[in-house]
Amino acid sequence: MSKRLLLDTLDEFAGREIVADFWLRDDDAVEPTPALDRFLDLCGEFAVASTLAVIPEPTGDALAARLEKHSNVDVAVHGWAHRNHAGPQEKKRELGLHRPLDLVLGELRQGLAKLQALHGDRCVPMLVPPWNRIDAAVVEHLPDLGYKALSVYGPEEETSLPLLNTHIDVIDWRGSRGGKDHDTLFADIAMRIRTAQDSGRMTGILTHHLDHDETVWAFLRSLFEVTSSHPACRWRSSRLWLKEISP
Ligand SMILES: [Zn+2]
Repeated sequence: MSKRLLLDTLDEFAGREIVADFWLRDDDAVEPTPALDRFLDLCGEFAVASTLAVIPEPTGDALAARLEKHSNVDVAVHGWAHRNHAGPQEKKRELGLHRPLDLVLGELRQGLAKLQALHGDRCVPMLVPPWNRIDAAVVEHLPDLGYKALSVYGPEEETSLPLLNTHIDVIDWRGSRGGKDHDTLFADIAMRIRTAQDSGRMTGILTHHLDHDETVWAFLRSLFEVTSSHPACRWRSSRLWLKEISP
């Protein structure tokens, strides 16, 4: 079983006194929902830090109030309205050059300001582009808008600002649109933590609380059971990571 493979890998790390750094990004939060409660409760049960990628335009005070009692939950900027501006033949994209660049940048400036006003210190100046897609021309301007980091999906590429990517998506979007097979996920994580070790990077787990079926919820519980108290594993918050790299 691949859960065993992850555990063996972590045990081997522990023997060599190295630590695998994990972080958890959950996308598309707007307001409190039963699914969000379930996500926050599960993370809380295992003391796992999380970062909610919040959609600025439709969100408001209710989410901020819901998060108030949690110290281990960060908020990042998930585009502006999570609206697709690409053509019908293209992959969905909000932060492309389908509209004037100044308009896109204006929304991103407004998004950060709104989430900072709502969430204070909990808001991390990190952009999470909807559908994990953004044009290089937009990325170039992010530091001028106050962003200090970018988070997409997949291996890290060279960019003008620090990247905190996600690598393991728990949902099979192209197939069943339900949770991926647990064995596959555990095997992928075991492989990723070795790559991450070589590159000095973290391993990012990507979730979407509004879209989880029972397979996903069971996987997260199982992952937290294996990792949350293992000496070779550390769940880190994006806020502390960012403080470390740009004090
Ligand atoms: Zn999204």
